[in-house]
Amino acid sequence: MLAPGAVPRNDPPMSIWDHMRKAARPPAPQSIDRLPDGALSIRWDDAQTTRVEPRALRLGCPCAVCVDEMTGARLLDPERVPQDVGIKVLEPVGNYAVRIVFSDAHETGLFDWTLLRKLSS
Ligand SMILES: [Zn+2]
Repeated sequence: MLAPGAVPRNDPPMSIWDHMRKAARPPAPQSIDRLPDGALSIRWDDAQTTRVEPRALRLGCPCAVCVDEMTGARLLDPERVPQDVGIKVLEPVGNYAVRIVFSDAHETGLFDWTLLRKLSS
């Protein structure tokens, strides 16, 4: 019940809570499927579905071989990554990341959900 003189509020629903929720926890995949062409299709718990190419993952690999841990400089030379690099093994790590073994034998990359989301579209 409204107090006397109060103006009924007709504001649209607040979106602050949505922002807070996003900040508190990044979206996590509900499923990751390998498509026939080798790409991954990821269904996220915020109802988005994204697609990511194996080469984009390979180039975005955050491991110590690919990125200098001290400077953050990327050590990986894109020229040395085959255009048709594929994913051989996709292995969940806890509930925060996947480990990917690529067809160029690179196997030290851990991709957490935030990175996976960043690399996919
Ligand atoms: Zn790497």
